[in-house]
Parts: sequence; structure tokens; C-alpha cells
Amino acid sequence: MTNSSLRYKKILLKMSGEVLMGDAPFGIDTKTIEAVAEDIKEVVAAGIELCLVIGGGNIFRGVSLAGQGMERANADYMGMLATVMNALALQGALEKIGVNTRVQSAIPMDAVCEPYIRRRALRHLEKGRVVIFAAGLGAPFFTTDTPAALRTAEMGCDALFKGTSVDGVYTADPKKDPAAKRYDTLSYHEVLSKDLRVMDASAIALMRDNKIPIVVFSIRERGNFMKVLKGQGVFTTIA
Ligand code: UDP
Repeated sequence: MTNSSLRYKKILLKMSGEVLMGDAPFGIDTKTIEAVAEDIKEVVAAGIELCLVIGGGNIFRGVSLAGQGMERANADYMGMLATVMNALALQGALEKIGVNTRVQSAIPMDAVCEPYIRRRALRHLEKGRVVIFAAGLGAPFFTTDTPAALRTAEMGCDALFKGTSVDGVYTADPKKDPAAKRYDTLSYHEVLSKDLRVMDASAIALMRDNKIPIVVFSIRERGNFMKVLKGQGVFTTIA
């Protein structure tokens, strides 16, 4: 069943690992992950083909340990493994409420999940399964933004959704500056030239070159994912 009021048919949702922490300072909060899973279920039930990329910042970010003297590449591999843990956690929460999923990892881990195979991922999507892409690009010196953009393009998605803890892109950090204003729309060029730090520049450039819009919204408010897909509520579109 495809809902004609929806703006897109096939999308990729990128969430930072921090979304899964809830109000905790670290790790995965079960209640939060269950709530996110419910929002995802609603979107899948509306007939959207959905892929997911989750970061690992709630567990581990390579750049932090590199700052304390660990070799950067090694720390980044640890970060990629953290994204696999988050992918499995979200897979568990989704399957528990009846959403079919597959996890595909850019670093092959046969005992845990499927390896990333583009054509197989496309087939899963056609069958209504949610595909969760884990382990980023399988290469260090990246965050999960660039793999999210790459998979968006590879899967032929109509849009890249970025679910964060704020409801769009602001002129300044709204948590620190009460005068910060939210943009309704932005061009890729504005994001890059104003250095707005929505996502890594390589991810923005990839979306620009492939003319795929980026929608930034708050995944913290329940039901908001579906609302934004219908073009309602508060969000920023970069196109
Ligand atoms: N990472 C990497 N290559 C990739 C994707 C991720 O090396 O292609 C590592 C990197 O250390 C990164 C960590 O995995 O910091 C977790 O991802 P990210 O920082 O994007 O998590 P988020 O901030 O979205 O929670």
C-alpha cells in the first residue's frame, strides 16, 4: 500500500548513535530504541522502502581515542564495530514488533549479518524489508555520513533523511544561542560555504552531484518521522 500523500517512495534514514542513548550519557537506552522502532514501523507500513544507517557515537568514535594517542585507523575500525552493535540493537527492536529487517555490513561478519551486496539489498527493499547498513564504508578516516550518502545514491533513494535531536538546520547551535534561526530550505552550496556542519562535506557534495535532497528533522519527537514524510511539521530541506 503506497500512501499518495507521501513525498518520497524510497529513502535512507541516517541517525547518529546518540539518538539511541535517550537521556543517558552513553550506550543504548531500550525505551528510546523501542520508540524509534515504532516510528520506523509506521513509515514501513505506509509503503515506503526504507534503508537505515546508524552511527556509533553513543559507544565509540575513532577520533576521540585518536585524540588520546591511539592510532587513528585502529580507533576508526573500533568505531565501525560500534555501528554494527547499534544496527543489531535496532534490528532486534524492529523484529520484535514485526518489521522484517536485514543487516548488511561493509566489513564481512558472516556469523552476525550479511555482507554488503548492492543487488541483494535492492531485492530486500523490494520485498518490504528494512535494510540496515552497518560498519560504514568499511574504511577508516570517515564518519557514517559519507556511507549514508553513498548508500542513498546506490539504492536509488529519492531522499536522504537525517534524524537528529534538533528539528532542522539553524544559523547557530540553538542549544547555545537563543537567537539562532531555523532554515526551512538551504542549497547544498549554502551548507558548504557557510560551513553549517549538518553532515560531512563529502556527504553533502555526493548528494549535490546526484541531485538527491537531504531532509533534516528531529527523530526525538514520536510520530515526527511520518509527519515529515507527509511534508508536515518542522524540518529543513537541503536541495
Ligand atoms: N567509521 C569509520 N568509517 C566509516 C564509518 C564510521 O571509520 O565509514 C568510524 C569512525 O571512527 C566514526 C565511528 O565509526 O567516528 C562512528 O561513526 P560516527 O562518528 O559517524 O557516529 P555518529 O556520530 O553518527 O553517532
